Amino acid sequence: MDYQPVIGLEVHVQLSTRSKLFCGCSTDYSGKPPNTHVCPVCLGLPGVLPVLNDEALRLAVKTVLAVDGEVARFSQFARKQYFYPDLPKAYQISQYDRPIGLGGHIEIDLPGGPRRIGLTRIHMEEDAGKLVHPAGEAHSLVDYNRCCVPLIEIVSEPELRTPEEAKLYLQKLKSVLEYLEASDCNMEEGSLRCDANVSLMPVGSSTFGAKAEVKNMNSFKAVARALEYEIERQAKVLDDGGRVAQETRLWDEASGRTFPMRSKEDAHDYRYFPEPDLPPVVLEPEYIDSVRKSLPELPDARRARYMAQFGLSAYDAGVLTADRRLAGWFETGVGVHPNAKALSNWVQSELLGYLNRDGLDIGAVKFSPADLAELVKLIDAGTISGKIAKDVFAEMYASGRPPAAVVREKGLEQISDESAIEGAVQKAIEANAEAVASYRAGKPAALGFLVGQVMRLTKGKANPGLVNKLLREKLGGEG
Ligand code: ADP
Ligand code: ZN
Ligand code: MG
Repeated sequence: MDYQPVIGLEVHVQLSTRSKLFCGCSTDYSGKPPNTHVCPVCLGLPGVLPVLNDEALRLAVKTVLAVDGEVARFSQFARKQYFYPDLPKAYQISQYDRPIGLGGHIEIDLPGGPRRIGLTRIHMEEDAGKLVHPAGEAHSLVDYNRCCVPLIEIVSEPELRTPEEAKLYLQKLKSVLEYLEASDCNMEEGSLRCDANVSLMPVGSSTFGAKAEVKNMNSFKAVARALEYEIERQAKVLDDGGRVAQETRLWDEASGRTFPMRSKEDAHDYRYFPEPDLPPVVLEPEYIDSVRKSLPELPDARRARYMAQFGLSAYDAGVLTADRRLAGWFETGVGVHPNAKALSNWVQSELLGYLNRDGLDIGAVKFSPADLAELVKLIDAGTISGKIAKDVFAEMYASGRPPAAVVREKGLEQISDESAIEGAVQKAIEANAEAVASYRAGKPAALGFLVGQVMRLTKGKANPGLVNKLLREKLGGEG
C-alpha cells in the first residue's frame, strides 16, 4: 500500500528578552551556577504576582505580524496544570483558547514552486526549569534558572507532506525569527525546540490517520531523520494490518529510532483555566500598527529584491538572504565593489564552502566584506587571475589579511606584459613539438594544453587571455 504522510510541527522558541516573562530575573543564565537567576515570582512562592514583560509581548506580536497572522486584540493567559519537579508552581502560565496570534503562513520553496504552509496559532508561555541527573547518583537535581523564560509556540496546520518539506519549513521559520531578532534560534542550546506530529493515510484519501508526536530532536536534520523513521515504522504497522497508536514518542539520535514515551490514554488532563493573576492582554490598533511599522525587510522580500536589483537567480538570492547576517555581509561587499554576481559566487562557492567545512558561521570570518570586494576588484582589474584569487582567498580566510597585502607579499600579480610572457610561450612551443603539430593539423584542443604549459611555467601568473593571443600568433592561424 502507498501512504501519504501528513506532518504538522509545534515549535517552541525562546524570545530574546533581557528579563523573564513575568519577573525581573535576567535570562542571561547560560553557564551560570544553578538557581542563581531566580526570585519569588519564578520560584512560584506564595504571595507574589506575575507582571507581563512588555518586550516579550512586542516580540510575540512582531512574529505574528511577520508571518501574516492575525494579532488578537484580546488575548489571555491560562494555567496549564501538571505536576513535575521542573515546574515550581505546579502549573505553567501559557495561553489556551485566547492565543496572541491566529493564522498566518510560512512560504517554502519546492521544486514545483513556492508553497504556503498554514499556521494554526502562535501563543506565549513561560519555560520550565531543567532537571539534572548526576551520573551514578540515585537522585536528580533541578535548576530553575530557565523557569519563566519567555517562549512562543508556533503551531503549523497539518499541511507538510514530506520530511524535506518539514526541514524547509523549519529553516524558513528560523530565518524569519532571526530577521526579527526575536530569538537566536539555537537548536542545540534549546532556544528552538520542535515537536513533530506525523500520520499516514492511503494515497488518495483525505481522512487523516492517528498521529504520533515525536520529541527530542536537536537539529533540523534530526527532525527529518525522525520523520523518515516514523513514516517507515507506521507504514509497516499498517501493512501488517495493525493500527498506529496515538502517542508521544522520543527520538533517540544514537540508534536513529523513536520509542514510545506516553500514550494518549495517560496523557495529561491539564485542566486549563484563565490565569487569575494576570489581566487579559488588550491591544489597541495603534499599538499593533506601531509594531508593524518596526518590521524589518523579511527574507522573502529581500530575496525578491536581490533578484531584481542584482540580477541574481532565485536560488542564489535565496541562499544569500536565508541568513540575515550573511545577507548584510554580502550587501556591504556590494557597496564597496558593485559586481554583485561575482561577489555572490565568491560568497557561495568559496566562503560558504570553507565555513561549512569548518562548521563555522559568517560571524567567524576573519576578513571583512570590503576585503572580499577588493579581491573581486583585483580580478576585475586584471591584477590577478581568478585561479590565483582562490589561493589569495585561502590565505585571507586563514589569516584575515587583506587581499592586496597577500598579493604583494607573495608576488602574485598577474603578468600582463607581453615581453615577460613571450619567453615562456617560446619555451612551451619548443618543449611540446607534438602538441604544436597537432594544433597545426587542425586540433584546437592542443592550444588549451599549450596554454596550460605556459601557465605552469609562469606559476599561474600569466594573463591567460594574453597567453592565448601570443600562442596563436606564434603558431600561425591554423587550428
Ligand atoms: P493535539 O490535540 O494532539 O495537541 P492538535 O490538533 O492540537 O493535536 O495538533 C497538534 C499538531 O499536530 C499541529 O501541528 C497539527 O498540525 C498536527 N496534527 C494534527 N493532526 C494531525 C495528523 N492526523 N497527522 C499529522 N499531524 C497532525
Ligand atoms: Zn524571577
Ligand atoms: Mg494541541
